[in-house]
Amino acid sequence: MTVRAGREFLAIPGPTTMPDEVLQAMHRPALDIYSSQMVELTESLLADLSKLFATEGKSYIYIANGHGAWEATLSNVLSRGDKLLVLESGRFAIGWGQAAAAMGAEVEVLKGDWRRAVRASEVEARLRQDKEHSIKAIVAVQVDTASGAYNDIEAIGKAIKASGHPALFMVDTVASLGCMPFEMDKWGIDVAMSGSQKGLMTPPGLGFVAANERALEVHKKANLRTPYWDWTEREGTEHYRKYAGTAPVHLLFALRKAIDMLQTEGLENAFQRHRLLGEAVRRAVAVWSEGQVLGFNVMEANERSNTVTTVTMNGHDPLALQRYCKEKCGVVLGTGIGDLSGQAFRIAHMGHVNAPMILGTLGVVEVGLNALGIPHGKGGTEAAIEYLGENVAA
Ligand SMILES: *Cc1c(COP(=O)(O)O)cnc(C)c1O
Repeated sequence: MTVRAGREFLAIPGPTTMPDEVLQAMHRPALDIYSSQMVELTESLLADLSKLFATEGKSYIYIANGHGAWEATLSNVLSRGDKLLVLESGRFAIGWGQAAAAMGAEVEVLKGDWRRAVRASEVEARLRQDKEHSIKAIVAVQVDTASGAYNDIEAIGKAIKASGHPALFMVDTVASLGCMPFEMDKWGIDVAMSGSQKGLMTPPGLGFVAANERALEVHKKANLRTPYWDWTEREGTEHYRKYAGTAPVHLLFALRKAIDMLQTEGLENAFQRHRLLGEAVRRAVAVWSEGQVLGFNVMEANERSNTVTTVTMNGHDPLALQRYCKEKCGVVLGTGIGDLSGQAFRIAHMGHVNAPMILGTLGVVEVGLNALGIPHGKGGTEAAIEYLGENVAA
């Protein structure tokens, strides 16, 4: 017997649930890629992406996932042998660094921890040691989707500034843009990147990069540039060059609709929605943790992301729980990845999420914990309900 029917609910951190409006926006014929409508669509999206990143700098759209956008950032500002400093807080900055190493950069990892965010003071100390300025760029993620850690990018930006070091600061916002505040210019970020399929509620397949004046200056001398990723190649007047070939017309319609929806909701409201729903998840996990099996992967409460929560299982099998939730109840939880493979599951709360989706997911996790006899504190979903009742004003 199962209690699943109809649409499966994806509680994984990407691809995320797409609004019906976004799906419908793609159900139409392609545009003539040379038409003025096409040019206007591109211009509106580039302007709105810069607004989302909060920069006066330039934005670029690639037909790529996040891994592609990583290569876009690296190839545009690095030269062979340049040193990149990777700020570790789980899996994703490390992955960005691995791409850089494969492309010919020298990569140094500022050792972090899977259970905590990057410490800004450690970044400052490392940069102060680098008297010859051999480090050319620093990469960090705002949210590490594997560990569930939230990095205080503003504080890291301040630390870099305080050190007086000239390295470019590059930030991955794949699991946070549109969900949590991000201020590229105010926080001293030179290059930012993101993808379409997480907070931005759009199908996988678009990668976004923004660059400021300083990055565009460094770009001029970078020798890892290749034609597809190259910012300069994309600056030609001909619209065709904006995508280095045919525009991904339908994905752009989808993105247009998704950004329209975010603008209608208001970015501040979207951030607040993520804060509330993220906290609701944390209230539930905190109660479940009383059973001594489940627990937060990220130890410090203020380092937990509002977009994804990674729950460790202290020796119990997360796969059995995930399988139960999917096969019996139609909810797909995220799996533990990297160091947490086989040891954790993840609940995504990013993008097109609302109270019934989150409370439903928490309820299903609790059904699974009961059905599988996994010890846990009782009343986790109830705690989430109480929290929302107290904090979503009538
Ligand atoms: C998902 C993710 C990526 C990789 O994106 P893909 O589209 O899967 O290539 C990079 N960084 C972060 C923080 C992510 O969450």
